[in-house]
Amino acid sequence: MIMKKIAILGSTGSIGTQSLDVARKHGYKVTALVAGSNIKLLEEQIREFKPALVAVMDEEAGKQLALAVKDTETKVTFGRQALVDIAANNSADIVINAIVGIAGLEPTLAAINAKKDIALANKETLVTGGDLVKRAIKQNGVKLLPVDSEHSAIFQCLQGVPNGALKSILLTASGGPFFGKLKDELKNVTVAEALKHPNWTMGAKITIDSASLMNKGLEVIEAVHLFDVSPDDITVVVHRQSIIHSAVELSDGAVIAQLGTPDMRLPIQYALTYPERSDCQAERLDLFKVGLMTFDRPDTETFRCLPACISAIREGGLKPTAVNGANEAAVKLFLDGKIGFLQIGELVEAALNAQPTVKEFTLDDVLAADKAARQLVFSLVKQ
Ligand code: NAD
Ligand code: MG
Repeated sequence: MIMKKIAILGSTGSIGTQSLDVARKHGYKVTALVAGSNIKLLEEQIREFKPALVAVMDEEAGKQLALAVKDTETKVTFGRQALVDIAANNSADIVINAIVGIAGLEPTLAAINAKKDIALANKETLVTGGDLVKRAIKQNGVKLLPVDSEHSAIFQCLQGVPNGALKSILLTASGGPFFGKLKDELKNVTVAEALKHPNWTMGAKITIDSASLMNKGLEVIEAVHLFDVSPDDITVVVHRQSIIHSAVELSDGAVIAQLGTPDMRLPIQYALTYPERSDCQAERLDLFKVGLMTFDRPDTETFRCLPACISAIREGGLKPTAVNGANEAAVKLFLDGKIGFLQIGELVEAALNAQPTVKEFTLDDVLAADKAARQLVFSLVKQ
């Protein structure tokens, strides 16, 4: 296999650290790392992987890190512009974007415009800037490889499938910690309860999104962009065991699924080795241990974020940006104990309704719509 050079944006997070596990196993050269503020872990990563460049979002933390690693060859920069610059100006063949939230959009665009392939975990990039990203991908002739487990599964299932043969997508969802609960039972759930995901260990924001089904809504939007399908061709299937990572239905009725243990290192690795396959650290699947697999419809009456996202992508324009921005703000408020769990869905719906429909938009319009949705959330919560 060809030796890869990789850069990781969001290297201290759940996907970031698992990407470094994969890099360690395969001996990939790590050329650049970017993170928010966890400089203790970043310092360890610098000493182990010796990247030429590191950018830290938080300026104070960045300055401290620069001092701490003075004895190394790594150049540390800090601030928002620094991380966008590093996404573009590094010697990697492929940039893994594992930043959380819309903060990942500009670095993704910068890397694409610098003609780098992208392994994309940061789904908010496609949700908010899907059209802009796809245009940039085409113009620059680079590849966008999905890391999100469901989208990696769909991508894997589509290998060898002729153009035009994809009929629909079966997007699986674990259902999260609150599967089967009704609105009344969810009024007073705590942050700790919402953070208890049954099958996956992930960052806090995506774990809350999994509990509210916002994550599945964002993934519907992500799938529309990645696979050029209509939202009507995507069926969300609650599959509690998270063994089937998603499936595709083809024109002749054949359904092809990708199965595996819930471990993100496989989709991360596949994005890096594609189209090759190689040994992976993830635990092997034993169907006898799984025993039973179940399938349910999502409860869209209780979990309002999912239908809000589907409406957003149907209506298009900046509506997906608005639901995403409202959700990012609402999840932060929920994690800070300032709003209840069910309010997340109400705020997302409010942003969906408040965002006017537009057809054409620029990056500045996306950033403005994101800001407006966040402001709407804060104004509604203050009342
Ligand atoms: P996380 O919170 O564990 O890590 C986020 C990383 O991004 C950290 O390194 C953090 O320092 C960095 N970061 C946060 N804000 C930043 C900013 N403004 N600028 C620069 N860096 C910033 O999150 P995660 O669970 O690893 O998720 C990352 C992305 O991958 C999300 O978009 C998530 O939806 C997606 N994803 C995650 C999983 C998973 O299993 N964790 C699975 C599928 C998709
Ligand atoms: Mg996923």
